[in-house]
Amino acid sequence: MFPEKIHNYVNGTWHPSSSIEEQEVINPATGEILSRVPLSSGAEIDETVRGAQEAFLAWRKVPAGERVQYLFRLKTLLEQHREELARTITLECGKTLEESRGEMQRAIENVEVACGIPTLLQGKISEDIAPGIDEIMLRQPVGVCAAVMPFNFPGMIPFWFLPYTIACGNTFIVKPSERVPLTMTRTFELIAELDLPKGVLNLVHGGKEAVDALLDHPLVRAVSFVGSTQVARYIYSRATANGKRAQCQGGAKNPIIVLPDADLEMTTRIVADSAFGCAGQRCLAASLAITVGEAGKQFPQAIAEAARQRVTGNGLEPGVQMGPVITQVSKSRIEGLIGKGIAEGAELMVDGRGAVISGCEGGSFVRPTVLDGILPGSEVARTEIFGPVLGLMHVDSVEEAIRIVNAGTYGNMACLFTSSGAAARKFRSEAEAGNIGINIGVAAPIAFFPFSGWKDSFFGDLHAQSADGVDFYTQKKVVIERWPKEWSRKF
Ligand code: NAD
Repeated sequence: MFPEKIHNYVNGTWHPSSSIEEQEVINPATGEILSRVPLSSGAEIDETVRGAQEAFLAWRKVPAGERVQYLFRLKTLLEQHREELARTITLECGKTLEESRGEMQRAIENVEVACGIPTLLQGKISEDIAPGIDEIMLRQPVGVCAAVMPFNFPGMIPFWFLPYTIACGNTFIVKPSERVPLTMTRTFELIAELDLPKGVLNLVHGGKEAVDALLDHPLVRAVSFVGSTQVARYIYSRATANGKRAQCQGGAKNPIIVLPDADLEMTTRIVADSAFGCAGQRCLAASLAITVGEAGKQFPQAIAEAARQRVTGNGLEPGVQMGPVITQVSKSRIEGLIGKGIAEGAELMVDGRGAVISGCEGGSFVRPTVLDGILPGSEVARTEIFGPVLGLMHVDSVEEAIRIVNAGTYGNMACLFTSSGAAARKFRSEAEAGNIGINIGVAAPIAFFPFSGWKDSFFGDLHAQSADGVDFYTQKKVVIERWPKEWSRKF
């Protein structure tokens, strides 16, 4: 189904990479090798950036209304191939087919929003800021933009950037995660059908060498990154030190608070989906549930039961509710952290270690796990586990719970489950996170809102998606004009 080795898409054509370095692309559900991905060299990045710069000079002059016609066609192509793309996501990333379909839907929604660029791109004008003088603000594209992507949403996350950047008149280079390069490769086969001017959209595979070459290249003007906090911090520092714009979304440790007046059945179902959906490998996965007062009596048993009942297996199979984690290394790391939690005094209510799925013995599976009584400040309370592991903590008041939420170093998402409007309002105002859920377990902003993130979950100021994306991918120009009356010819 997949080529033995995948290629880069540069300047409108497919190129085998000249690099001898490569990596296997592995199906995490079976351990089967799906393809091989090249780790492109700095020289290949240079060639790609130069092509993108040349393309930019013409593309920026194409009227916005014409640029979005390519996006309308791309939306249709993505819809026509949604099932195939979803299957590719499941094969290389492991999540269930249903989750992959949802991911592609979110990608398409970003294309839809970017189709509104002719309006989103509009500037403004003030007439007569002084007698006979007008002031105009207009937006212009910044140039060549690049995105470095994580493994967990290979179909969706590139679309937080791709449609906005080219609709704004920039040219773009995507560097997918080397662990899941196949979804973007198939997407670019569709993009190749659009007959875009060559060099407007480019796909380059690789690892650190390719990323560093993008960060150092003087013609790359803006860098978008999504991935772990450690790498986000590095990319932000290096890109900005080189004078580039940068928006870098990092990792997370998302807490949810359960109040005693929350609807137990609904809360349990939603928290289980948040903590164990996508095998806990969402940046918006709940990983710490803080119960307040009486909620600590029923919620632990209810969530433990939901964890036990979740069907784990190959995401392609009907009825499976949770797939594998991305690699064997990841499985070992997650199992190590579960062990660490036990060593720190937590009670292991549900143990997902050592999972073996019949027919998928080569897969990297960890079943849903619940650790009860974890302590504030402990390693499992602080560390992003990025696996299907939920820690439980119990406190006496909502104030104490909010204090624990705000003591965390990350700030991607925080959620509250309650039927009290006053508690919800207090939480919404005081919780230090960029995405807030009230009776919602995965507070993922829809495409016409920014994907916010605070503290160690984000480095930069303008976020992905929507008007923030337009601000990031354009530079504002202010023009002050005087046209003295006496210069006018009489008509
Ligand atoms: P990662 O940081 O390991 O890799 C992300 C990208 O960075 C990859 O393309 C990789 O090739 C590149 N990279 C890795 N190390 C590098 C280095 N030393 N120098 C230069 N480039 C390097 O992240 P991942 O494991 O692919 O993704 C999971 C992480 O992403 C989790 O921490 C998750 O929370 C985070 N994430 C965050 C968001 C968000 O919106 N905040 C969304 C999705 C995922």
